[in-house]
Amino acid sequence: MRKIAIYGKGGIGKSTTTQNTVAGLAEMGRKVMVVGCDPKADSTRLLLGGLSQKTVLDTLRTEGEDVELDDIRKVGFSNAICVESGGPEPGVGCAGRGIITSINLLEQLGAYADSQKLDYVFYDVLGDVVCGGFAMPIREGKAKEIYIVVSGEMMAMYAANNICKGIVKFAEGGGVRLGGVICNSRNVDNESEMIVKFAEKLGTQMIHFIPRENVVQRAEINRKTVIEYEPANLQADEYRTLARKIENNEMHVIPKPMHTDELEKLLIDYGLAG
Ligand code: ADP
Ligand code: MG
Repeated sequence: MRKIAIYGKGGIGKSTTTQNTVAGLAEMGRKVMVVGCDPKADSTRLLLGGLSQKTVLDTLRTEGEDVELDDIRKVGFSNAICVESGGPEPGVGCAGRGIITSINLLEQLGAYADSQKLDYVFYDVLGDVVCGGFAMPIREGKAKEIYIVVSGEMMAMYAANNICKGIVKFAEGGGVRLGGVICNSRNVDNESEMIVKFAEKLGTQMIHFIPRENVVQRAEINRKTVIEYEPANLQADEYRTLARKIENNEMHVIPKPMHTDELEKLLIDYGLAG
């Protein structure tokens, strides 16, 4: 079972990319569980066709300790298993700790047991690692393989570089590795070339370039992944390709974060060159 976490700046497309990639893997016959680690609890909406999923933390609050596996997971597109960890009550408690509570409960209830025959678990993790809490899935060894969603926009690259600093901190002790960066295009000039270079400087790879296409939002309004909504669309194939590349990926590295001035130079060299 591969334990994968998706990180990246808020709004960059983590939940969209995760669910579409999971749909691609599920279509290939892989058994996948998605664990949403964002208090917004919107990590599984496209796989569940908009079904509102009660979060693990809400279920714990209302049912106490008497929780069963089927209270906290739902089966979505192509048998993908969907869990939303949820968050603490606003302003109270650490969301990162909530994530660990959820994962521990899933473990206790046997969600990761061999009998479940899972090929993959995907953690869709909120924001960057500014708050220590959100590093929990990698700090506690719950996720071993990280992909960072990025674009050619400066703040997205800045966040990706910071996430790499977080990964380095836990890599030696915990064995977590970076599998690559996924460029989710914002149609920035020279974006693909710049992110290829950015990835190279970080010691990793741009595993795939996902074009920005309106069909993603059309599918989203219809509460579906592109793969389910328009299976013949070229954008669906982009996600299938990413799924295949992740399946075959053998590049797992400890990243080498960049200095801010080096990152800014890269942006000037590529971003302003077009
Ligand atoms: P995050 O989980 O990182 O906060 P989301 O996955 O919720 O981000 O994406 C934010 C918005 O961007 C969504 O409305 C989504 O439809 C849109 N989006 C993501 N990827 C693409 C894409 N490749 N093309 C067009 N729109 C996209
Ligand atoms: Mg999200």
